[in-house]
Amino acid sequence: MKPYLLGIALTAALAMGVQAAEPIWDGNQVHMVSEKLGDGVFAFYADNASELNHHGGAAATSGGLIVGSKGALLIDSMLNQRLNAQVQAMSAQLGNKPLLYAVNTSAHGDHSYGNMYLPASTLVIQHAQTREFVEQHLADDKAFMIGHFGAGRGIEEIKARTGDLLVPAGGALEIDLGGKTVVVRDFGFAQTGGDLWVWDPQAKVLWSGNPVIAGKPALPWLLDGHLVATLETLQRVYDFLPDDARIVPGHGVPLRKADLKWHIDYLATVRTQVQSAIDQGLTLEQTVQRVTMPQFAGYVLFAWVHPGLNVPAAYRDLSGGAAARP
Ligand SMILES: [Zn+2]
Repeated sequence: MKPYLLGIALTAALAMGVQAAEPIWDGNQVHMVSEKLGDGVFAFYADNASELNHHGGAAATSGGLIVGSKGALLIDSMLNQRLNAQVQAMSAQLGNKPLLYAVNTSAHGDHSYGNMYLPASTLVIQHAQTREFVEQHLADDKAFMIGHFGAGRGIEEIKARTGDLLVPAGGALEIDLGGKTVVVRDFGFAQTGGDLWVWDPQAKVLWSGNPVIAGKPALPWLLDGHLVATLETLQRVYDFLPDDARIVPGHGVPLRKADLKWHIDYLATVRTQVQSAIDQGLTLEQTVQRVTMPQFAGYVLFAWVHPGLNVPAAYRDLSGGAAARP
């Protein structure tokens, strides 16, 4: 996340009368549950995520746990101490094994702030770019998060706990949990440039983090721009997955591989329509007015995320203008 950029986008959204995104859920209220997806494989998500996803609402952060004979790996450490305690309690109950590893799918606070509450013996796995971002921007990031998630949600006391094991750009780590190998992989720029995906090849389950927010009608957020790279990465992920794979998204209940088509089709349509507008010499404002794409409406944040964020990001990316991400 680049708080200053998102701040601009959210300010624009508020000017349009649209409520800001993730703050819709309250870190002091969310109650998380688990769903078993395989032997020692669990998704964690908010107890109202299925209903919210179905209606295009915005659910709290999802994550999960993979348990081997030697120990367990946690996917995402959540926003605050309260939510981290919930995922640790579920991990202890379901896994009954030490938490050897915890992965952050990105630097976003709702996926990584809980690191500091993990056992000292747990090794934190981050993308190299995520660690760099946290080292340089945590104070700004916390101020931004308090501004949008509210004060008194446990964000004030967050201190950085960065990665012990880093995945370099384009790289991957193979983690042996005992009788079970898990792959933590960078598939390319997907939302922040520090995006990690966790793949369990035995259970055929992939954790995506925010690049896949939730199933239809939720849409990608091009917070840091890069429409073309994001589209290529989602297509790469789609091609990688076997047909019977499941995806635990960043903010919802598990999906099927085929559900990724919605996100890919959306970005491909944005690309085609925005490129056409650029080819005809339209300005950004004219392009936003023309590329309305009502066939992709239904997400509660559509009126902000599509005209306020994604179409402008696509326009900048496709017109070769200044990248949204410094
Ligand atoms: Zn998130």
